[in-house]
Amino acid sequence: MSIARFWRETPRRYNLGGSKCATCGTVSFPPRVVCPTCTHHRQSIGKMAPFQLSGEGEVESFTVVHEAAEGFEMQVPYVLALVRTPEGPVLTGQIVDVEPGEVAIGLPVRATFRKLREEGKAGVIHYGYKFSPRTEDDPAPPRGRTAPVPREAPAPERAKA
Ligand SMILES: [Zn+2]
Repeated sequence: MSIARFWRETPRRYNLGGSKCATCGTVSFPPRVVCPTCTHHRQSIGKMAPFQLSGEGEVESFTVVHEAAEGFEMQVPYVLALVRTPEGPVLTGQIVDVEPGEVAIGLPVRATFRKLREEGKAGVIHYGYKFSPRTEDDPAPPRGRTAPVPREAPAPERAKA
């Protein structure tokens, strides 16, 4: 991704700003100009309004990644999850502040903004959302203490390095 494109996308990366259809109430993220749900898409033209996601959600599915893409070498293994938000959209993001073996389907999480990667030569640092575990009475749990015990540990695809 080019730097210019990245910065164009930065506001929604920071704010989790989506869109909401005034006709049927469907929330979309990233924001859309036409509602994907309305039977007659033209109904929604001009009725899509900005909508702020809460950043909360639950892990719907996840995978443990052992081989990182270039630039992410220091982060393996890490957990990449689909997070179902109460507003509807499903977000893809990394789960942080918890051991990979402690991530489970249904784990409550909250979006947090973290460094995504740093490009060596240019020194450009990209930020975006990741997700960390949350509990009702402790919105920022210390690492490894409050995550629920998974019913069964996910089978690793290969031995940890
Ligand atoms: Zn709609």
